[in-house]
Amino acid sequence: MEWLRYRRLLDGTRGDTKSLLRRLRGFGAVGHPARGQAEELAGLAVAVFDVARRDRAGQTHGAATVLAAAALTRTGHAALNGGARVPDDARFCFYNPLHGTVGRAGPRPVCGPCAERLRDFRGAETLLFLHVAPPGGELTPYYRLPGLFHTPGMGLGAVRAAARASVRAS
Ligand SMILES: [Zn+2]
Repeated sequence: MEWLRYRRLLDGTRGDTKSLLRRLRGFGAVGHPARGQAEELAGLAVAVFDVARRDRAGQTHGAATVLAAAALTRTGHAALNGGARVPDDARFCFYNPLHGTVGRAGPRPVCGPCAERLRDFRGAETLLFLHVAPPGGELTPYYRLPGLFHTPGMGLGAVRAAARASVRAS
């Protein structure tokens, strides 16, 4: 099991988003498809992050929404790293969306390191738990927390659509 304090997720997501925006300013080639996608995802991540923070009950309510913002930001970084758009049907690692998207479909998309641990029958060790502050101060599997990232192994397109809808509704 991997676990993360909500506060660290918040700080990490804020840092990742800032560094993505910084990279975008320094990334030449306006109109490059990877850049366009990274820009869109960064904007969406910032908006979703704000929605989660405004929800001051957000200590628990926003946890899986902040996680969605983190997943979008990391995908933006991945697009810039790879120099190509990440396809909408790419799914996030079932065990931990922060591991990024994996190309493979199937009921349980997993990243390389998680696949390796699964082969050693240690798959569950990599499942992400979040520790949210009291009153819900327990370790909870990420997909059981309220918020946008409610299903393990969600696809990029589904996370984007949920993020857009939540921003529109706020
Ligand atoms: Zn993984």
